[in-house]
Amino acid sequence: MRLTIDACLVELPEGATVLDGVNRLAIPLPQLCKDPDRAPLGACRTCLVHVEGQRGLSAACHLPAREGMVVSTAHPDAVRVRRGVLDLTLSMLTPAKGESRGGSVPPLHNGFGALGDAAARHGLGEPGFAPLHRFDVDASKSFFVLDREACILCGRCTVACDEVQQIGAIALLGRGHTTRVGVFGDGPMAASVCTSCGQCVATCPTGALATKEGPATIVRRVETTCPYCGVGCGLVVPVREDGRLALMADDVPSNKSSLGTLCVKGRFGTGFVHSRDRITHPMVRRDGRWVRASWDAALETAAEGLAKHRGRFGALASAKATNEDGYAIQKLCRVVMQTNDVDHCTRLCHSPSVEAMLACMGSGATSNSYQDYEEAGCLMVVGADASANHPVIAIRFRRAVSRGARLIVVNPKRVDLCDQADLWLQPRPGTDVALFNAMARVILDEDLANLAFVRTRTAGFEDWRASLRPFTLEYAERMTDVPASDIAQAARWYARPPRLGDPGDGPRSTPPAGSCLIWGMGITQHTNGIHNAHALLNLSLVAGQMGFPGSGISPLRGQNNVQGCGDAGCIPTNLPGYQTYDPDTLAKFAAGWGVRPPGTTGRVVTEMIEGCLDGQTRAMYVVGENPLLSEPDLHHAEKAIDQLDFLVVQDLFMHETAERAHVFLPAAAFAEKDGTYTNSERRVQRVRQALPAPGEARPDWWITCELAKRVARRLTLDVGGQFDYAGPAEIFDEMARLTPFLTGLSHARLDREGGIQWPCPTPDHPGTRYLYAESFPTGRARFIPALQTAEAAELPDHDFPFILNTGRLLYHWHGGTLTRRVQGLLELAPRLEVAIHPSDARRLGVDTGARIRVASRRGELTGHAHVTEAVRPGAVFVPFVKLEESAANFLTNSAFDPSSKIPEYKVCAVRVERVRE
Ligand code: SF4
Ligand code: SF4
Repeated sequence: MRLTIDACLVELPEGATVLDGVNRLAIPLPQLCKDPDRAPLGACRTCLVHVEGQRGLSAACHLPAREGMVVSTAHPDAVRVRRGVLDLTLSMLTPAKGESRGGSVPPLHNGFGALGDAAARHGLGEPGFAPLHRFDVDASKSFFVLDREACILCGRCTVACDEVQQIGAIALLGRGHTTRVGVFGDGPMAASVCTSCGQCVATCPTGALATKEGPATIVRRVETTCPYCGVGCGLVVPVREDGRLALMADDVPSNKSSLGTLCVKGRFGTGFVHSRDRITHPMVRRDGRWVRASWDAALETAAEGLAKHRGRFGALASAKATNEDGYAIQKLCRVVMQTNDVDHCTRLCHSPSVEAMLACMGSGATSNSYQDYEEAGCLMVVGADASANHPVIAIRFRRAVSRGARLIVVNPKRVDLCDQADLWLQPRPGTDVALFNAMARVILDEDLANLAFVRTRTAGFEDWRASLRPFTLEYAERMTDVPASDIAQAARWYARPPRLGDPGDGPRSTPPAGSCLIWGMGITQHTNGIHNAHALLNLSLVAGQMGFPGSGISPLRGQNNVQGCGDAGCIPTNLPGYQTYDPDTLAKFAAGWGVRPPGTTGRVVTEMIEGCLDGQTRAMYVVGENPLLSEPDLHHAEKAIDQLDFLVVQDLFMHETAERAHVFLPAAAFAEKDGTYTNSERRVQRVRQALPAPGEARPDWWITCELAKRVARRLTLDVGGQFDYAGPAEIFDEMARLTPFLTGLSHARLDREGGIQWPCPTPDHPGTRYLYAESFPTGRARFIPALQTAEAAELPDHDFPFILNTGRLLYHWHGGTLTRRVQGLLELAPRLEVAIHPSDARRLGVDTGARIRVASRRGELTGHAHVTEAVRPGAVFVPFVKLEESAANFLTNSAFDPSSKIPEYKVCAVRVERVRE
């Protein structure tokens, strides 16, 4: 459609509004209640325009654009009425104490944001009406304030909270002149369900909701990717005049890679880059003390120590660093140190998922996209507390539920998602195989299987079916404590989900509606982890729930780039792109790298750490990881690391592992470098430099390449030239050349088109939304029988009668190395809380807040009781984050899954006692 606005011609697509045209032409028309990402509310009436041939004025946000329309924003009637509306709106505000509103509106309340600008443009000064009510400022949240006297009741914040975040913490309370934004019960925001996501702050047009940061001039905004979790939300980081990141990052307006919103960590949690304890110059240890060194001296010392220990060396790469950083590390290991002993934190989170998926389907990645969660008829979320760990994905789950999808939550702990669930299965920890195998039996017994899929796309069905014989519903109920009827219902919904929009449980139509199977570390961090993962995959195969929109399998990846770190080759079992050590592939890499990489599987991180004790590991290169917080049984891990002859740590901070190093190499943070991350849905996205790195800190890829050249020289290897890169784009190009599923990607293409999902084999390939539409990399997917080997390596007994469960918190990231350095996050979760059931708390004589001691056979910690029915009687939950010098991994068991080598973080036996003060 072509229409004219203020004498300018504009072309708009079907369905557009006149306001879309106004904004496309960048005409400064007030639009106070219109969130650019939301449907119009039509509440503020400040976007009134005149349309030729029409009587009266229309709100542009609600006015459909039509071919040939002639619109004027500057028509005298429109300006006059808008001015009146703005004057009335201004009268709702109360001037800040001691300030007068003479002349123009700014600087009251920091200019009242968009309202201040609009009022000034309409020549408004003193309001025509006096305010009738005074309201207190709510400053109870750590990052922002709610100043109701700067509020015009446009409702944008309540829509943001309710519809965008699907939280509903705030609403318009009261009536008439006392109408105000508030929380349930009219108490302080801090006492509400508000998660501090900042969506309301980002959308408020007047500054009534504003950060606690003082006024600052923003000199540039840089689009990059969130450094926290594997959701991989797009961030726009604003850089202030003083060279610091502003407190609040913005979201990237919703597009294919982002929901257009953020959680509290992405929105407010990037300030760790300015932490005063950043290490900003290289250091070497001399006579037991740290000494500042030049880059050359530090790298030479590091190179000497590593070269000396070639053959007894291992590297730990960082799932927080970029793909390019990871690629450089594994190349150093394979080309220079001639070892495949390189690993990263996937070992500690999803190695059973990756191993099981590789064995079953030939690919170790999530098969679908976030979009599929919203198109599914059933979501089964297993062992994942998405509201805490992947908050923006949890929003997608809530949106799916509000559209009618069934939500099944499987978790021994009552996680927030249980509030929206149709069915919550609460199995005893360690009994997952019995639960999933019994579900599979129901699917088969009730003829719910997709036998056409089984027949044409899978192998091993009959053997697997035979393996299910013992897993009757009665047996599963006995094992898991989950009622048989609930297990059966879950199986029915998963195998035959309702089509969205179908009422109730009516008959299912074809084509089948989709189900998504989503799981987290509650499944994998067990000695039975690989069997748990196979049991889930078998369910998806028998139901045929993959390869079409709204279906699929999703292990929710933890860290921001855990997918990419594995893709780049930082795993001992495979070369970049999960390519095997077969002769042809080794020859391909030999041609690319000038050196043939070793052809046998290397050691995983848990084996490298054990190797420190038996002498097989004498030197380690640890990049962006802190194993002395993330390893299980920390006293044991400390003993092991202390045996090393030589340790190089490359990081931002002097953390628990770095304190034991011989050389410290200071790295640039996410906002100080360029590169890419790959998120949980296989989407490769750009990371862009917004700030210079502080002091002498350098990007990880640069440090690793400089180190590699020096080690090569000391070993008289002629491979130094392999590490001469002009920048991360060149590293990416090499990785893409050698990795078939990335070959179509480059930094330049990602800059042009935004994030793209692999496989993307050619430059004109659009990327892949979901895998396995027609085939599997292995041809057919394989059913692999899953066994219930044992409930756990360590079960409660007389001395240690509780089961310990561990996990993460919304306000901290994993061990807290980054989030403990963000004051506002620390204020939201300042102390270590141990969740305990009321019946156990009563027996121990403790209330919420009481200090309690939790001890296992390996160590102990003290924390504060949080009495809650979220955990089962006989169980306690301790988060991974280290607070008040207490960390869950002093308690956890290093027993591991014999196949994937993942430690059993999720179950061990502990004793709980009250601390008498
Ligand atoms: S910060 Fe987020 S959760 Fe809290 S009121 Fe605002 S939108 Fe709602
Ligand atoms: S959901 Fe994850 S990626 Fe998104 S803002 Fe939060 S921490 Fe960052």
